[in-house]
Amino acid sequence: MCSVLASEKQTFIYRLRHSLAHIMAQAVLQIRPGAKMAFGPPVESGFYYDFDFQGEPLGERDLENVENIMRRIIKEKQPFAQAYKTLDEARAFLAQTDQNYKIEYAEELVETGKAGGEGLGFYTNGPFTDMCEGPHLEHTGEVPKACFKLDRISGSYWRGDEKRPMLTRIYGLAFETKDALDDFIARRKLAMERDHRKLGEELDLFMMDAEVGVGLPMWMPNGAVVRDELEQWARESEFRAGYQRVSTPAITRSELYHRSGHLPYYAESMYPPMIVDENDEYYLRPMNCPHHHKIFGARPRSYRDLPLRLAEYGNTYRYEKHGSLAGLLRVRAMCMNDAHIYCTPEQVEGEFRAIMAMYRMYYDHLRMGNFRVRLSLHDPKSDKFVGNEEAWNRSEDIVRTVLANLGIEFEEETGEAAFYGPKVDIQVKNLLGREETVSTCQLDFVVAERFNLEYTGNDGEKKTPYIIHRAPLSTHERMISFLIELYGGAFPTWMAPMQVQIVPVKDEVLPCAHEIAGRLRGGLFRAHVDESSESFNKKIRNAVTHKIPNIWILGMKEMENRNITWRRYAVQEQQTIPLDDAIAKLEVLRKDRVMDNFAE
Ligand SMILES: [Zn+2]
Ligand SMILES: [Zn+2]
Repeated sequence: MCSVLASEKQTFIYRLRHSLAHIMAQAVLQIRPGAKMAFGPPVESGFYYDFDFQGEPLGERDLENVENIMRRIIKEKQPFAQAYKTLDEARAFLAQTDQNYKIEYAEELVETGKAGGEGLGFYTNGPFTDMCEGPHLEHTGEVPKACFKLDRISGSYWRGDEKRPMLTRIYGLAFETKDALDDFIARRKLAMERDHRKLGEELDLFMMDAEVGVGLPMWMPNGAVVRDELEQWARESEFRAGYQRVSTPAITRSELYHRSGHLPYYAESMYPPMIVDENDEYYLRPMNCPHHHKIFGARPRSYRDLPLRLAEYGNTYRYEKHGSLAGLLRVRAMCMNDAHIYCTPEQVEGEFRAIMAMYRMYYDHLRMGNFRVRLSLHDPKSDKFVGNEEAWNRSEDIVRTVLANLGIEFEEETGEAAFYGPKVDIQVKNLLGREETVSTCQLDFVVAERFNLEYTGNDGEKKTPYIIHRAPLSTHERMISFLIELYGGAFPTWMAPMQVQIVPVKDEVLPCAHEIAGRLRGGLFRAHVDESSESFNKKIRNAVTHKIPNIWILGMKEMENRNITWRRYAVQEQQTIPLDDAIAKLEVLRKDRVMDNFAE
């Protein structure tokens, strides 16, 4: 019932989880002999089994009992034995215990030809038999000590169909060792506390609104600060690296997308067209590339103009299925740290190297951990890749060499390239340890020709440039969702929506507190005076709850000596220093984009 690769089924973890599903079902049937079984597959972090309890279902309070029985079954070292039955035999066997869900599935397997030549597979361990294609452990005693835990119970419809009976699903977690299980539980707890949707709400970073539409995030003032800071950083780094900024519209005529190949190849991910001026079709853009290509092509270009690096934080719109939308991770409107680099064949390697160095600089600085790179190559046997074999090999070699020279670990994957060139996917681990693609970078030797882009070489001949597509800071949506979870919402001073919270100890110092806040705002720092009537301790707690990196406490003594007492987020000790020194320090935190709120 689950589509997994044959090789994956042979792994110990797969057989372990699959076997535990059987062990759990056996235990559940000991408590409720009349329960009917539905599906019980291994899943990503363990296994589950669906039951129809024919009355009062088991609850969370029963899980300990089930676990105890499971441990007994494991101790018994029951061997798993395989046997095959014809459909009639299977029906007769399953009817003895009234397993109508299994009978329905057995009939479907045979009708659709999925049952295989030998018949329907059954596995028996101890007194328990289940229809299943395996594979399993040799015997239940192979289950490592303390490696599983029953997790939770939820409802689920038979075959996911709300018109069919509601079943009770019992989930279990299972890993190869107790340590791996404990590690997963700890990570999951952290990930839940730091979920970007939860923190986004608590820290007023972004919102969604049903009347605006699903997948269309709106950034609130606090979130807009984080976006602006990232954008400012990108602008500075790109300026230093010789990029030029452009600005192009988010809608465009269909002609452009026919030329680029987005139509028809990318049509599924685009919003339907708008018809204007009688018969003119316009699309919301899913990518910025074609507009940049138009800018390159608008003027005659010489080899002396290259490399030409065009950058834009561009708004793009993609049609994603409703069911796949998830917080900021999968949205329908996004803003991308995009740029396209047009260069000669000789310049490709150097440019690619500079881009990868920029990726590394950003990710190191943001403490995103060591990223891993997946290099997606063309498949010589497939016809979905444009261009000749030699050009492919050359481009792939360039990317491979650059990655190796930079000491970046990478894995190659054949057949996953973009249709116009090899693709580098930057993979970063999230809090659950799962790898996610944060951004991609592509070397394109095809699209320039489709757009008739050319430059004059130093021999006077017209030549086609290479194009590199890159977006190191990804989209704001994806990057910020990642950073919220990585930092637990506690942004470093330079990115923090509120940089300094000034806490007056008594009302007499209020005018002075406002004077300091005014001076900070004059220096373009985000500062706020807590004028609430709360107690001093409550004021400190509020600043901490809002994850404000710097609290400046102002009492009579501080006021008289032109000092402030500086308390850092998540740091116990505080320090009383002259106001002028404090402001100078703040300036350094901002200018160097110090990651001062990051607990390593
Ligand atoms: Zn099984
Ligand atoms: Zn592009």
